[in-house]
Amino acid sequence: MACTRDALTQDPESGIIRIDPQKCDGCAWCIEACDFGAISINHETKLAEFCNQCEDIEGGPQCVKICPKNALEYTTPDQRAQRTRHNLIKESLHFPSKAKDPR
Ligand code: SF4
Ligand code: SF4
Repeated sequence: MACTRDALTQDPESGIIRIDPQKCDGCAWCIEACDFGAISINHETKLAEFCNQCEDIEGGPQCVKICPKNALEYTTPDQRAQRTRHNLIKESLHFPSKAKDPR
């Protein structure tokens, strides 16, 4: 991990990344390292903060629940990889429609 102060740890089972507020000094190196712009510095605490998958909230990720377009999904990396493989197979089996060309 990018943290020079060893403030970040990842739970091997859930994948959740946790921050140790005693170690974080708000240097923002982790922000530079994250390609997804998912980390920010909390202006009040001056410490890094990011998604913890709502691990402390009953019912799980609230963003998934609240999105009116169902654009968010909570899956494990394994589930996602499996779905990607499934979609690739489906696509490879897709034959062009025999419907007449409207032109
Ligand atoms: S902001 Fe905190 S968590 Fe991020 S690299 Fe610096 S010390 Fe580590
Ligand atoms: S609401 Fe969504 S983005 Fe925010 S902490 Fe929960 S899971 Fe992460």
